[in-house]
Amino acid sequence: MVDFADDAQDLIAGYRRFRASRYREAKDIFHRLRDGQQPATMIIACADSRADPAMIFDAAPGELFTIRNVAALVPPYDNSGGLHGVSAAVEFAVTALRVKQILVMGHGGCGGIAASLAAAADRPVGQFIAPWVEIASSARDAVLKNPSLQPKDWQEALEHGAVGQSLANLMTFPFVRSAYERGELNLDGAWFSIGKGALHWRNPDTGAFSLVAAEDPDTDRDNKL
Ligand SMILES: [Zn+2]
Repeated sequence: MVDFADDAQDLIAGYRRFRASRYREAKDIFHRLRDGQQPATMIIACADSRADPAMIFDAAPGELFTIRNVAALVPPYDNSGGLHGVSAAVEFAVTALRVKQILVMGHGGCGGIAASLAAAADRPVGQFIAPWVEIASSARDAVLKNPSLQPKDWQEALEHGAVGQSLANLMTFPFVRSAYERGELNLDGAWFSIGKGALHWRNPDTGAFSLVAAEDPDTDRDNKL
């Protein structure tokens, strides 16, 4: 028998800390936001517990409209029906909230990306995970066929490549493309190194990721480790 009481108590204790500290600091913001939100940015990130966009971008309530899923993937536009949670969130962000920017953020050590690589090795993971991570299949095949990459490089290369695939898929949504072409919406990619706490930004022209300079003294040292 699993004892759930401790887990619930951890949540309740965290809520009490929130009320005593961050909520008190942001009380006015919450009050102002009670009737609606106007975030300028949508973030599409992984469900992974270690890569929390609100923490990484030090965001206040109301700043980031966020959807998180396995491997931070965006499926291509599909009007054949079905239950499309990511597509619904993108639609709301772009057509109702009129966000100015969508950031797709992958991360190091992504289990969803590992599942995509496992599927290519005939080891599909899960009833729902395996078909979901097939969204990244063409990026994965490009990684596997790249002669300059060793197998040890595949995971991170696909974490980067999947961000590019999701950005390309975003552009298949007619309302995304038209907002982009009107100059009202920008699309960006990023990748977060969990072990180093370091953000890497995607160059839209080359698809390469480069470290974002930070101002804390640990950053340079950590990235040399
Ligand atoms: Zn992940």
